[in-house]
Amino acid sequence: MEVAAWCGRCGQHFNLVEALVPPHIGACPRCGAPFSASYTAVVVEAIRALVVAAQALDGAGHQLRDVAPRLHIDATPLVADLRATLDH
Ligand SMILES: [Zn+2]
Repeated sequence: MEVAAWCGRCGQHFNLVEALVPPHIGACPRCGAPFSASYTAVVVEAIRALVVAAQALDGAGHQLRDVAPRLHIDATPLVADLRATLDH
């Protein structure tokens, strides 16, 4: 599952995983500006955790779809919670 992101400095959109690839680790892959002047290590760890969580969600969702077709996940409140957490 791709996590789309955008930079508050240049406004460009990118795949969040790009912010984990040198030379732009913890920085915008488009303009190169760091996302935090003082907390790059924390930013990188949080980005990494978010990317891993998105992959886990994607994998678990596909697995449940395959093995439990009668189980239906109500995505609406989940998406609303994610939006409240991630949008700022
Ligand atoms: Zn940028």
